[in-house]
Amino acid sequence: MSRIGNTLWEQLKWVLDNVDRELPRSDPDWLNLWFEAHEFAGPADTPDGRAEEVQLYIQHNLADMLETFRHMIDFATWRHRITGLPRPPAPELAWDAAAQRYRKEFRDRSESFGTRALGELGELLEAYGHLVKRCQAPARLKPGRKKKGAAAEAGLCNKRFLATRETQIYCSSACLARTVERKKAARSKAPARPARKKKQTN
Ligand SMILES: [Zn+2]
Repeated sequence: MSRIGNTLWEQLKWVLDNVDRELPRSDPDWLNLWFEAHEFAGPADTPDGRAEEVQLYIQHNLADMLETFRHMIDFATWRHRITGLPRPPAPELAWDAAAQRYRKEFRDRSESFGTRALGELGELLEAYGHLVKRCQAPARLKPGRKKKGAAAEAGLCNKRFLATRETQIYCSSACLARTVERKKAARSKAPARPARKKKQTN
């Protein structure tokens, strides 16, 4: 079973989930991500060495990967041009002894792990980059700090997310519910202090 999803959409979701996650991770977390990254971009060399050195190497590589991913995902949310993708490998002519002919081959140029990961994400964004968005819902108010009126309007959730369809503009059902709630409150021109909602049927 795949750890990063079987479809391109699921794999892009895997990227977004990881880009969004806060560091630090625990050592087993990093190792987990290392295996997932292998699945995403093909094998990477893990050096021989003491366990701590290997762990550092893995973290360093993955942190680099996540940083690059974050840039690309952010560019996608802004619909900016995404540059720096790896070039496709140049074809080579290989002698086919059985057929006594040259054949064109695209050899896998043992690219670095990071480069391959970049290429993979490029493919995913070509397929589903239009669904990479930032949530347009009003931000959740910090607990314990009840703001009133205009102050409450300030800020958006702004979380990066992968929409399931083009019309989706909120990252979660909670954000959708909050938006509906705020709109309702604004429309009713109620006093700034929101009253507890009465049960209503419709
Ligand atoms: Zn949101």
